[in-house]
Amino acid sequence: MSVASSIAKIQNELSNEVQLIAVSKTKPNALILEAYAAGHRDFGENKVQEMAAKHQALPKDIRWHMIGHLQRNKVKYIIDFVHLIHSVDSKRLLDEIQKQAQKINRTVAVLLQIHIATEDSKFGLDEQELESILQEKSAYSHIHFKGLMGMATFTPDSQQLADEFAYLHKLYQRVYGRLDQPSVLSSGMSSDYTIALKHGSNMIRIGSAIFGHR
Ligand SMILES: *Cc1c(COP(=O)(O)O)cnc(C)c1O
Repeated sequence: MSVASSIAKIQNELSNEVQLIAVSKTKPNALILEAYAAGHRDFGENKVQEMAAKHQALPKDIRWHMIGHLQRNKVKYIIDFVHLIHSVDSKRLLDEIQKQAQKINRTVAVLLQIHIATEDSKFGLDEQELESILQEKSAYSHIHFKGLMGMATFTPDSQQLADEFAYLHKLYQRVYGRLDQPSVLSSGMSSDYTIALKHGSNMIRIGSAIFGHR
């Protein structure tokens, strides 16, 4: 199936409130342009250098989503164009985003990534860290806190996936009133998005189901 028809097929399953992020990591610009030609504008990348190079080369109205673990020393390479950083997983990273955003007088939208999986290899905040960040939210004058992001365990166990997404949704509802622009719960990938959608997701990040296997 073509990129355009894969996107159309997934879009057809989604209600109007759900946004589809096409995860284009490792995929060539030509494939991104196929999606672009079909009207798609939101793309996700997990590596700073790759995202910056694609931003350089591709149409400027593409909205770039940083979805991978972000190292503090690389924030400066994306700060002037990134649309939404999904993967804020530490206070020190927030401090750096604030510093770089302030430098260029831009306000950057972020999601706080919550550790919902059982794997230690996955990143994310625990409830205490989330709480402590929200308590200091006023220090981040150049950051808009829009919501939460989570990555579930890599497992075929749909009950476990449902439990993890439900936990994330519960946390989102709990902190909703304390975010400054509450609007995004980013959860669900190619293999588990139908479950995420049953548990409050309104932004899904889909790679292989659009662009094929990596
Ligand atoms: C790669 C990636 C995705 C998309 O994964 P697929 O299984 O290809 O849909 C979603 N979210 C994050 C954080 C990723 O790194």
